[in-house]
Amino acid sequence: MDIRIALAGNPNSGKTTLFNALTGSNQFVGNWPGVTVEKKEGRLRFREGVTVTDLPGIYSLSPYTPEEVVARRYLAEERPDAILNIVDGTNLERNLYLTTQLTELGIPVVVAVNMMDAVEKSGDRIDSAALAKRLGCPVVEISALKGRGVAEAAEAAMAAAREGKAPPPFPYSGAVEHALAHIEEAAVHHLPGAQQRWYAVKLFERDQRVQEALGLTAEQIAHIETDIAAVEEAMDDDAESIITAERYGCITGWMSECCRKSAPGALSLSDRIDRVVTHRLWGLPIFAVVMFLVYSVSMMGVGAAATDWANESLFGEGFYLFGLENCWVSGVPVWFERLLDALHVADSGVGAVIRGVVLDGIVAGVGAVLGFVPQMLVLFFMLAFLEACGYMARIAFVLDRVFRKFGLSGKSFIPMLIGTGCGIPGIMASRTIENERDRRMTVMTTTFIPCGAKVPFIAMIAGAIFHGGAWVTTLAYFTGMAAIIVSGIILKKTRLFAGDVAPFVMELPAYRLPTLPNLLRSAWERGWSFIRKAGTIILLSTVLVWFASSFGFTGEGFRMLEEEELHLSLLSALGSAVCGLFAPLGWGNWQAVVASVTGLIAKENIVSTMGVLYGGEGNVYTALAESFTAASALSFLVFNLLCAPCFAAIGAIRREMNSARWTWFAVGYQCVFAYAVALMVYQFGCLLTTGAHPLGLAAAVIVLAGLLCLLLRPAKRAGRKEGEDAAMAA
Ligand code: GDP
Ligand code: MG
Repeated sequence: MDIRIALAGNPNSGKTTLFNALTGSNQFVGNWPGVTVEKKEGRLRFREGVTVTDLPGIYSLSPYTPEEVVARRYLAEERPDAILNIVDGTNLERNLYLTTQLTELGIPVVVAVNMMDAVEKSGDRIDSAALAKRLGCPVVEISALKGRGVAEAAEAAMAAAREGKAPPPFPYSGAVEHALAHIEEAAVHHLPGAQQRWYAVKLFERDQRVQEALGLTAEQIAHIETDIAAVEEAMDDDAESIITAERYGCITGWMSECCRKSAPGALSLSDRIDRVVTHRLWGLPIFAVVMFLVYSVSMMGVGAAATDWANESLFGEGFYLFGLENCWVSGVPVWFERLLDALHVADSGVGAVIRGVVLDGIVAGVGAVLGFVPQMLVLFFMLAFLEACGYMARIAFVLDRVFRKFGLSGKSFIPMLIGTGCGIPGIMASRTIENERDRRMTVMTTTFIPCGAKVPFIAMIAGAIFHGGAWVTTLAYFTGMAAIIVSGIILKKTRLFAGDVAPFVMELPAYRLPTLPNLLRSAWERGWSFIRKAGTIILLSTVLVWFASSFGFTGEGFRMLEEEELHLSLLSALGSAVCGLFAPLGWGNWQAVVASVTGLIAKENIVSTMGVLYGGEGNVYTALAESFTAASALSFLVFNLLCAPCFAAIGAIRREMNSARWTWFAVGYQCVFAYAVALMVYQFGCLLTTGAHPLGLAAAVIVLAGLLCLLLRPAKRAGRKEGEDAAMAA
């Protein structure tokens, strides 16, 4: 039989880093709580027959969060052979709280004190031998990041598993011990000896899940209750608090014996930074500036130069290699043209179709998307940096303060921040929200944030209409955020979502300088999936778009069209049929409508479709500048930012909602909301610039009034909860 070792510890203590070091796998490491929601398994790299399980990060074994439920079920029910409890050495006191619970499970425990590199740097001292004595289990000092002590920790856990000896029970005060003895006698004496303690403590805490799992009768519960009540009476506190207080009391004693701080009381650098970036007033403006810088650097700096080069030279005529005059390298389209010539593809008949699909379809469309790769890599690199250094966790904290004012939970914003990379993990991150209504609301609104795939079309509009200003992308980001808040307020006031805000306790992780390989890997992973999409789904879409835009019914029947006959194409017919619907938004031309629709397949398609439809002769940007005004461009941008996300993300919504009806509701809400906002943007935009159409303006005013009504009306109380939820789920 395999030896099964479980990694358990607080969020951000380095479990995943250790897991990767032990198993050689490549799980995502983030300086970010809630990254590992599910448990993951791997095989120990340097020994046969050992399975390692990475559990989600938890602060305790109470069943309050999904992470705790997952971890606790695994530990208590599947009972691994040993627990490798990883504790953050820079935060020992708080981390040991979980340790006092793990040692009660009756499973062998080895404590690995992690981040010893950081502990030593700060000048603190940890006496692990003394700590081992107090805890009654082996204590190993490690640095998962530097790979120090990792093998020793695994060996110690294996030895503990073989020996099978659990640590001695954690000592409570006399009165509690007395009650625990009674409870063991009354309710859990049929369990194996090693397991009785944990169940007795949980029963003492009136843990309902444990009461149910043990199948206690009402009589037994009543019997236990008299014991608990007696202790509560004597100690003048409730049972759960008594246990917590005794654990902490004991830990404080251990700390004074086993740990010496270098400079007690001094304000650390981390604290000083936090004072600034989480400031009540400046916190949010600083974040806005940071995002602006991120978008500026990626959109304008290095990234833009590379993207311009890609668009104009690589996917254009060509360029001089290293600027040398005799090293002319032709652009990709030229190479393809030569290839077609070499293959003797004719200029007419089937040959013309092949030439068209390759040059005007694939090269123009996919090339337009690939041109953004440099910008995306820079963007993803910087987002990875913000995440890994610990800044994003501060933002969740700052936003929580803002959103609490509006009756929303800050926990909804972790998915949003994750969604800045890609909406799908963002939607999945909503799992950490316990409250079902808040969770659904978060799933519905997370994709308002511009994900990586939306950035290219935003950048394209910024480039074509607004001289490439990074403020456009930043504005899109904060528009997405505002849309989440506004939707949150509106939805919270309906009966479907009403209810109290779930408490959000988030510990701020220490600031860390991320390692370059980690950042590069993270940027490359996202960048590569972007490239892969360009080679598959976007390629396929551009081929379809090209066909539909190059063929049509004319007086002479169905045939391939000339350049100037675009208006006769199938696509034009389809687009024109619905484009009236979008005329009030200012972009009732069929090209823009078709681009929005192909954006449902993948948001990058908006760019590739524009590339095919506006490419033709000359520059896409010039063509775009001719067909959009400032107001209609912003309206187009806002609509595509907020409307239904791509199919893959809709699939993720479907999985998380677990109901077709809720999915339709979510997508419908997003589209209606996007339409309303885009309408206002265009009509009020026209009012300020070219002058508004009275009818359109009236519609925008009505929409605005309606929105304000929804925002300001009094909240409904949470009523008829079961009935309605059941009706939606049906
Ligand atoms: P998890 O949430 O417990 O899975 O923690 P992770 O493995 O994701 O790590 C959290 C953060 O701590 C990451 O930024 C890691 O790079 C960092 N980290 C992990 N181990 C060490 C270590 O030994 N020393 C230092 N200085 N940082 C570490
Ligand atoms: Mg993890």
